[in-house]
Amino acid sequence: MIERLDAFMARANAAYYATHDPFADFTTSPEISQVFGELLGLWAAVAWGILGRPRRVLLVEAGPGRGTLMADALRAVGQAAPQFRAAISVHLIETSARLRALQAERVPGAIWHDGLATLPEGPLLLLANEFLDALPIRQFVRRGPRWTERYVMENCSRSAELFEKRSVESEGPAARYRWHERELPDPPPYLLSDGEWGNTPPNVVENCEAARRFVGDLSARLARHPGAALFLDYGAEHPPAGDSLQAIANGRPADPLSQPGTADLTAHVDFAALAAIVRDAGAMAHGPIPQGLFLARLGLFQRTRRLAEAQSPMRAAALVGAAQRLAEPHRMGRLFKAMAISSSTSTVPPGFEP
Ligand code: SAH
Repeated sequence: MIERLDAFMARANAAYYATHDPFADFTTSPEISQVFGELLGLWAAVAWGILGRPRRVLLVEAGPGRGTLMADALRAVGQAAPQFRAAISVHLIETSARLRALQAERVPGAIWHDGLATLPEGPLLLLANEFLDALPIRQFVRRGPRWTERYVMENCSRSAELFEKRSVESEGPAARYRWHERELPDPPPYLLSDGEWGNTPPNVVENCEAARRFVGDLSARLARHPGAALFLDYGAEHPPAGDSLQAIANGRPADPLSQPGTADLTAHVDFAALAAIVRDAGAMAHGPIPQGLFLARLGLFQRTRRLAEAQSPMRAAALVGAAQRLAEPHRMGRLFKAMAISSSTSTVPPGFEP
């Protein structure tokens, strides 16, 4: 069997999220510090104010993981913005039944969706952390004057079983799948023009059609209904750097093809490409800006210090350390970016002021 990379990645990640606790393998910002989710909740409260405080508003999270971010956000707005809290109905976009069950424990009363299409009409605020990076990508390779596309090829017929198995190391899984390239009659879609590449164009270019569709559909909705959305994810500066596909299995980097279904596959988010889609759909894009700058502007360190005052010295040091990990440039502060989308009639959302 031969599968295009995006189909392989979608199948591998669906199997992974259906069977694994991803947080045994990697840690995300909301799991590092409670202040992360609290600040995003307060961001939504301010955005609600900008919308003119509608009486009912959907608070949506895409890819909520364990539900930690939403639980922290709701606790913070319950204390700081009770009127906003009373206006909210919570909607979670999640495809993994296993993670939906975890989310139900932390966010009772939420309503689940497979995608944007089934969300009710009305004003909307959407949060998403490390959601876009999990969506399947295509990869194109420059071979001299021509281009090829990457596919994944099965080496033996038993490999379908790998998706159901938890551990296949003993069977030498690396040999089960290998890369395959097919020549393209035309250059890949969305290829940047020469002037846009800066110094040297990379030999591999990627595009994530699922992210383009999600952001395009969301922007079309925001062009029709008032609202705002906030995405935090990792992605290099523009222009994108080339092959960014990575796999994490058992907490360590792995070969993307060696353990499908037991490794988390992600790729960098091309925020510049997504911002262009937002504008084409008639909504406004803000950023991307570095996560560290965004969180500092929202008051990460002030809030952390206030929280730490009431704690034991050890717990206080842990809270401050966690905030530093989220914001310091050589840690998560620079590679991670924040980008917002808003209806064209609204003003700039908090944190994105020029
Ligand atoms: N936001 C969380 C989890 C990030 S992991 C955190 O920061 O901790 C990615 C999340 O996106 C998981 O909840 C995963 O199940 C979900 N996900 C992945 N692909 C998806 C898709 N196509 N549609 C909906 N949810 C998806």
